[in-house]
Amino acid sequence: MPNHLFDLILGRVPGSDRTLAETASGERRTYSDVLDRAARHAAVLAGMGLVPGDRICIQIEKSVEAIALKLGAIRAGVIFVPLNTAYTPAEIAYFVGDAEPKLLVCDPGRREALREAASAVGARIETLDPNGEGSLAELADLAVGTVPAAERGPDDIAAILYTSGTTGRSKGAMLSHDNLASNALALVAHWRFTSDDVLLHALPIYHTHGLFVAINVVLLSGASMIFLPKFDADQVMRLMPRATTMMGVPTFYTRLLQHPGLTPEATAHMRLFVSGSAPLLADTHRDWSAKTGHAILERYGMTETNMNTSNPYDGDRVPGTVGLPLPGVSLRIADPETGAVLPQGEIGMIEVKGPNVFKGYWRMPEKTASEFRADGFFITGDLGKVDARGYVHIVGRGKDLIITGGFNVYPKEIETEIDAVPGVIESAVVGVPHPDFGEGVVAVLVREKGAAVDEARIVTELSGKLAKFKQPKRVFVVDELPRNTMGKVQKNVLRDAYKSLFQS
Ligand code: AMP
Repeated sequence: MPNHLFDLILGRVPGSDRTLAETASGERRTYSDVLDRAARHAAVLAGMGLVPGDRICIQIEKSVEAIALKLGAIRAGVIFVPLNTAYTPAEIAYFVGDAEPKLLVCDPGRREALREAASAVGARIETLDPNGEGSLAELADLAVGTVPAAERGPDDIAAILYTSGTTGRSKGAMLSHDNLASNALALVAHWRFTSDDVLLHALPIYHTHGLFVAINVVLLSGASMIFLPKFDADQVMRLMPRATTMMGVPTFYTRLLQHPGLTPEATAHMRLFVSGSAPLLADTHRDWSAKTGHAILERYGMTETNMNTSNPYDGDRVPGTVGLPLPGVSLRIADPETGAVLPQGEIGMIEVKGPNVFKGYWRMPEKTASEFRADGFFITGDLGKVDARGYVHIVGRGKDLIITGGFNVYPKEIETEIDAVPGVIESAVVGVPHPDFGEGVVAVLVREKGAAVDEARIVTELSGKLAKFKQPKRVFVVDELPRNTMGKVQKNVLRDAYKSLFQS
């Protein structure tokens, strides 16, 4: 029976003894081995009574067996719902209550803590550990015979990914077979992936970047990956001579830049470094080029939309921009309030439409309706502009926009000026309640060791450069900015820390 995404993957499998993944311990797992495990997982799911459209929630560490489980779920038509490994049992109870899975898969050490959450929705609970062992793997070992792949069309839901939700309730983004298939195909072509590629995979696999961008691009190009449990700069440097590509968040690059081994020779075997999930500082881009001779390719996407834009493979990879819309993706800049499309060069809301854009939020029809325009464009929540060459620039999340004394202040503009001050490594600018201005601009920065950077110096440096209303009312120096696991600066944490600053 036709199964849109699974058939596409099967149709592109290279020679059966090609390695799909090599682990940190040197174990090699071939495509045919992983697909055999996927067939077994599909049979186990069907044997448990899961039918197409049912959900399976998983909260497990990275393992090749987890990839087999993902493929097994797609094959069985079961909706795959990965959950962040950092979530507490209380948080998992919320997601399980919302997704109502028939099966919850967790680390063996969590089985007891999650039993109640599972039983509250009548879900079965099984385990998988970081070595790919556990009760679910044992059931797959014992599976006899295979079940045919479930019939799934392009619009059927393949996965639900919960958004990181720094404000309000986390929402489940429903991604269809074709959302995932079309985007992975676009990226394979755009980034020139082939079966000769070896991807260094050090991202988590509960997030779209590591789970879909990285793994689906590998699967649809017949490439291999070196599959690491987490990012470790020494390990990545050691393995780089055997890889051809890496996908990372900006913190991978800033950490590698501090590594003494980062040289043109160490990266000579690599053909492509991709960055995304959070803004890559233009300085990081330039420092990387200077040290390695490679221009990092920055792209922009989100859980709900997969990837929207990418810098070109050939042609200018412009620091501080996220490149051009991918083929098939329409992108426009609109007035956040009225939705009117703005002239080129103006800052506004980024809206996108295309086969990559999700089908809506799980069980939230009203929220879904409010995030789409009548003509089908999705309102991303990101503010940005398109320059004369068509490159997209992101200036920040809409909710991070500061309104002070009635004026709009885009944090990125101020952060860029602060980052340019010698001795500053990075900064984050937020608005916090202010009795006179509504919001007051506050800057938080990290400085180089021993650098003579303090509040007075920043105030002096910015005074001639930015209009008075944009200048921070206070500047704080910290050891590091709060970040989530995808390297995003948690501005909500900063707003919270400084919320009483201007209150008398
Ligand atoms: P997530 O859904 O966790 O993948 O987060 C998506 C959000 O990350 C986007 O809406 C952007 O705000 C941000 N993001 C992703 N890629 C980039 C990038 N290259 N530059 C700036 N922000 C990015």
